[in-house]
Amino acid sequence: MKLAARMAKLGTETAFEVLARAKQLEREGRNIIHLQIGEPDFDTPKNVVEAGAKALRDGFTHYGPAPGLPELREAVAEQVARSRGVDVSPEEVVVVPGGKPIMFFLMLAVLEDGCEAAYPNPGFPIYESMINCLGARAVPIPLREENDFALDVDELAGLLTDKTRLLILNSPSNPCGGVLSKDDIDRIAAVVRDYPDLWILSDEIYSRIIYEGEHHSLITHPDLRERLVVLDGFSKTYAMTGWRMGYGVMNPKLVEHITRLQVNATSCTASFTQVAGVEALRGPQDAVEEMLRQFRERRSVIVEGLNALPGVTCRMPKGAFYAFPNVKELGRPSKELETMFLEKAGVACLTGTSFGAHGEGYLRFSYANSVENIREALGRIHELIESEL
Ligand code: PLP
Repeated sequence: MKLAARMAKLGTETAFEVLARAKQLEREGRNIIHLQIGEPDFDTPKNVVEAGAKALRDGFTHYGPAPGLPELREAVAEQVARSRGVDVSPEEVVVVPGGKPIMFFLMLAVLEDGCEAAYPNPGFPIYESMINCLGARAVPIPLREENDFALDVDELAGLLTDKTRLLILNSPSNPCGGVLSKDDIDRIAAVVRDYPDLWILSDEIYSRIIYEGEHHSLITHPDLRERLVVLDGFSKTYAMTGWRMGYGVMNPKLVEHITRLQVNATSCTASFTQVAGVEALRGPQDAVEEMLRQFRERRSVIVEGLNALPGVTCRMPKGAFYAFPNVKELGRPSKELETMFLEKAGVACLTGTSFGAHGEGYLRFSYANSVENIREALGRIHELIESEL
């Protein structure tokens, strides 16, 4: 089978592989607790489901405008303006099927052989995968535990060069749960001003899932907006991962190019899901608040429980819904621990190296599961560590 050389450089998300193995074990009769999943375990709010079902009945079953339905682009502009305290016009918004296509389309639009792209490591695996696939040089920005997994702005300044075409930021972060402060954002803004040809992708998909402090975005720096793309969406905030809907906010001149990529790839985002998206943004927000309340409670349970395990320490994540414990004292590579926990304890989690080389010595546990299951998983891991490690 002759494939293009770029396919050999395209990575993947190993979460899907762990899920497949866990499902196989379940078919064999094993009980598995799923703490590997990057999606809320809550249902999409009822009012949103109802709006989607009604839209289907009302005939929103055809192609729609490529950059998104005008009403949804307006609702997104309102939401981003309100939450970030800036003016946003609907012409700056492109709606796509999930948050991921914004990454994919932007990277296709700006990366090529010979340029560089700086991205957080540990970080969402698709960043590194796409940078490599497009022939650019991937420059990791290490996120360090001793820095509370926040990006070190001085270090970032030393990594950028005249060849850097793209800087990727992600706050709150997957997998570390770190959050950029207002001061970090202002200092990053000062650094990137020296690189006028640099594009910035600010992945803010967890912007509403934050427990300490507030969400801050580079979008508050007006002089950077020409080359800033804010990615956000519905998957996490409204438990809508399977609906496939997200958006980018960007310079209207870039909107034209991203829209052209969308026309080539998907034509448009499903029309009825976009009608549901308007309801998600403009309707009652109590389901989001309830989800946050439960995530906050689970966060305490899992972090406390992980810290009580022999050889494990865990910082309190400030956002998203992942704990990222240090397991170096257990004396085994993270990948081996991932396999052991799944095969022997029936607990599915992810090796930190799924998120890049700087994830060695860590595991990622998603707390998108009930307090009861989290406690059971911690108990099983405790037993395994005592008996085998
Ligand atoms: N960005 C980050 C940091 C994520 O963790 C995820 C999903 O896990 C995405 C983007 C993609 O979201 P979506 O499912 O909307 O494509």
